[in-house]
Amino acid sequence: MTFEEFCYLHDIKINVIKMPTSLRGFAYYRCDMFFVCINSQLAFAQQQDTMLHELVHILENHFVVSIYDHDMVEKKTKLILNDLKINGGII
Ligand SMILES: [Zn+2]
Repeated sequence: MTFEEFCYLHDIKINVIKMPTSLRGFAYYRCDMFFVCINSQLAFAQQQDTMLHELVHILENHFVVSIYDHDMVEKKTKLILNDLKINGGII
């Protein structure tokens, strides 16, 4: 399965757009679709890391988590990505 096929099957739309350099990217859910926005000003490797970070948020369904749990969600996302890297799942 290609990355494009994966995104299509999971209703994920990727946009690489110019943003302020203080932002790496973000994801949101709207109209039964997930949207991932990645800062085009990042280096390609940073764009890939940000993409994976946002995909974890989608696959872990972090959109239903309270804003008050934001720090916990970010910590969990980082742990998942570190675990995937350690176990050779990605990169
Ligand atoms: Zn995040």
